[in-house]
Amino acid sequence: MSILVTGVAGFIGSNFVYYYLRKHKDKKIIGLDKLTYAGNLDNLSKLNEEEKNRFTFIKGDINDIELLEKIYKENEIEGIINFAAESHVDRSIHDPQIFLKTNILGTQTLLHVFKKYYDERKNQKFLQVSTDEVYGALGPTGYFTEKTPLDPHSPYSASKASADLIVKAYHDTYGLNTNITRCSNNYGPYQFPEKLIPLMINNALNHKELPVYGDGKQVRDWLYVEDHCKAIELVFERGRSGEVYNIGGHNEKENIEIVKIIINYLQEKTKDEKINEGLIKHVKDRLGHDRRYAIDPRKIKEELGWKPETKFEEGIKRTIDWYLENKEWMYKVITGEYKEFYRRNYGG
Ligand code: NAD
Repeated sequence: MSILVTGVAGFIGSNFVYYYLRKHKDKKIIGLDKLTYAGNLDNLSKLNEEEKNRFTFIKGDINDIELLEKIYKENEIEGIINFAAESHVDRSIHDPQIFLKTNILGTQTLLHVFKKYYDERKNQKFLQVSTDEVYGALGPTGYFTEKTPLDPHSPYSASKASADLIVKAYHDTYGLNTNITRCSNNYGPYQFPEKLIPLMINNALNHKELPVYGDGKQVRDWLYVEDHCKAIELVFERGRSGEVYNIGGHNEKENIEIVKIIINYLQEKTKDEKINEGLIKHVKDRLGHDRRYAIDPRKIKEELGWKPETKFEEGIKRTIDWYLENKEWMYKVITGEYKEFYRRNYGG
């Protein structure tokens, strides 16, 4: 029996593959990824020989019905975990269409094939990895619960919210065993450096400006990626059919605070005096920038016994250390297409 995991060459997908194969010695994963600009097979290069025997990589698109059917015909699939997505809000503002194709139609295509080969007796499951951004923005107080109405603002979050509704429809209409998880911002190894934390680490190490949107007081609720992986594993194994589970660590920080934490820790580690707060540059705010996200994770804690295990102070150091130890990974990633994206967003 294998799980079909999509988006395995991205940030969270690759972390999940390591986590899951190391924890479950009897399990196999078939990993599907289109290898877009964000997909990087290097992210999976640390699998050991034994783990490699339980992992099959297939390059392909979640919209490719024939390929998905072939995978189902050739393997016994116990379920699908869908990480594959276009995931960057800024890119969705510049070019929304691919977000609709991958995030909405791609999810529906996966569901179509999941339904076609569905066998209720085998307890197969479809897990959609979604985001807290589908709930829109909060004021200074309050938390998103699973009952908070969907109110997405960016093309990215609208596409994720749409996908969530399609998953719900496949559960409600066809009785399929599905779950949706909605997690807050993740951080950790293998994150593409267009996202806040690796972007700031990389720029600081290269003495480049640290572009902070607007006043930098946007609040995000940060969770170490491995804690997210554990939550997904629990929901995949024990989540009640049709339910949504919010995932978050009650770790709210302003963006500017995160940038300063990174600067301070990098200074301490490298003793490089050029890494200092003078590098911070406030740039024009992102269009429609949501002010605050914060998750109420009570349901997954009470029902499934999940709790975040990595304190932010520890997780951020582990993350920065990883980027310091893997400069070659970063060097390979920040060429080509990434350069163009960076120029368009921040100039230079
Ligand atoms: P990522 O951009 O790092 O990885 C996405 C992966 O999907 C890439 O490897 C890419 O090649 C692949 N992909 C894209 N389009 C595809 C397609 N059509 N077919 C097959 N593969 C395709 O993203 P991430 O940060 O790892 O996020 C993974 C999932 O988790 C996404 O669904 C995202 O919405 C969700 N999520 C992310 C966060 C976060 O903080 N990063 C938080 C909550 C939820």
